[in-house]
Amino acid sequence: MSDIPETHPRRASLLSRQKLVDAQAKGMLANSALIAHGRGEAFDYLLGEKTTSGARNAAQEVLARMSNAKNPVISVNGNTVALAIEQLLLLADKIGCPIEVNIYYRTPERMNALLNHIEEVRSHLGIDVLILGSNPDGEIPNLDGPRAKCCSAGILNADAILVPLEDGDRCEALINMGKEVFVVDLNPLSRTARMATICIVDEISRAVSVMLEMDCSAVKVNPDFDATSSRDAVLDEMLDALKRNQTEA
Ligand code: ATP
Ligand code: MG
Repeated sequence: MSDIPETHPRRASLLSRQKLVDAQAKGMLANSALIAHGRGEAFDYLLGEKTTSGARNAAQEVLARMSNAKNPVISVNGNTVALAIEQLLLLADKIGCPIEVNIYYRTPERMNALLNHIEEVRSHLGIDVLILGSNPDGEIPNLDGPRAKCCSAGILNADAILVPLEDGDRCEALINMGKEVFVVDLNPLSRTARMATICIVDEISRAVSVMLEMDCSAVKVNPDFDATSSRDAVLDEMLDALKRNQTEA
């Protein structure tokens, strides 16, 4: 894949696909991971694979709220780790919060593959971020089975949680625990996007890169931030892209 020319119009997309294929081979992903990625790609196509100004505003608000929270945590699943763990480790370091591995289809093999990979990247970066998930001692109420497991030093007692690519059910359960839940989801119509306190409608690695460029001390919480309008702004950009293509056809 490294032989894709720098100028290839689909370079970023092809590199992301390869990251997922490699993660699949390492046992980090659920069987449905590539399907979930495909759904995201379809929406990203409508965005021209670029961060919109609406997404940038949402990212700024999320960074402000995560930086101001008492017990913030970043929760990661397989796709998130495959696509953006380096940026998320840097973001956790910047905010000063732990990262918790919290997956829908939890098996010891997948958890080990993910935890080992994150530890490898963390030590390569030479930063000191707490990685949680290996010893869950809590449960998210009103969720069945292993997907409810979480850590008291992380998700269970967090007041603010950044949880990219979350499932709608778990997003709802976390909201019902009284937390501020920030998601990254390319589909502005998903249950997750609509349930979350704030949804950044953008591709995960781009969204986190945008937050890494911002200065934590310069961003201020806006208690009146309108999450619905923020999502609608990105949806409008997608609809405009569709209409433009219709006119050009
Ligand atoms: P929900 O459970 O919220 O109703 P869903 O069941 O349609 O949504 P899931 O399969 O649970 O979706 O999760 C996949 C979601 O992640 C999709 O909404 C997709 O748009 C989004 N997604 C996939 N890849 C990315 C990515 N790289 N960046 C951001 N979002 C992504
Ligand atoms: Mg779902």
